[in-house]
Amino acid sequence: MANEAAQEAVDVVCPGCGGSSVRTVQQACAEERADEKDDWRSGGEPERGSLPDRLAASPGSTDAFDSFLHFVEGTVIAGLGVGLAYTGTRQDNPLYTVGGVLWAVILFAVTIVVIRGEARERDVVNVGEPRAERMRRAAYHCSACDSVWCPDGSEWQGTLTPEQFKKLMWTTAGYADRLAPDDKAREATVPAEALPRTGGQHRHA
Ligand SMILES: [Zn+2]
Repeated sequence: MANEAAQEAVDVVCPGCGGSSVRTVQQACAEERADEKDDWRSGGEPERGSLPDRLAASPGSTDAFDSFLHFVEGTVIAGLGVGLAYTGTRQDNPLYTVGGVLWAVILFAVTIVVIRGEARERDVVNVGEPRAERMRRAAYHCSACDSVWCPDGSEWQGTLTPEQFKKLMWTTAGYADRLAPDDKAREATVPAEALPRTGGQHRHA
């Protein structure tokens, strides 16, 4: 199976334009990322509209360390309320005491909600990403006509635009709702005939 795929890769031609300026999506993105490396911000997120962004397999969720920082920030801000409440008891000022306690409780609750939301997003991405990555590994890109396709048709049929492909990957993986509002893939419509025959439940894509 692996040998067949490797042999096929040697003489893949674009089904869209018949050209041979084709690479796997992984290669195409890796090369573009290398070219654009100097322009990158320290975070390493691909620039909006670049090929790696247009063909990204997942949104890249808030990582656990960011969540930890959010927890520390929230706790510090909630701690200001504790300080205020303490001042209130020392100075016998019920307004400070009640206000400080309310401040601390509300801020701490908001912090927990934010952290839990981030954890849920991480779970959704972690569960769905392997499926999206599998589609991405099977994908080829033609730099001449900007088509994306799966040579053996195992993941989907026919040629797609990068936006349709991203929409298909993210929908299959279960996080299409995470497509950014300014991402053209959000408005893309995946042709029904492109969908895998076994993936009937995703026909709403
Ligand atoms: Zn082409």
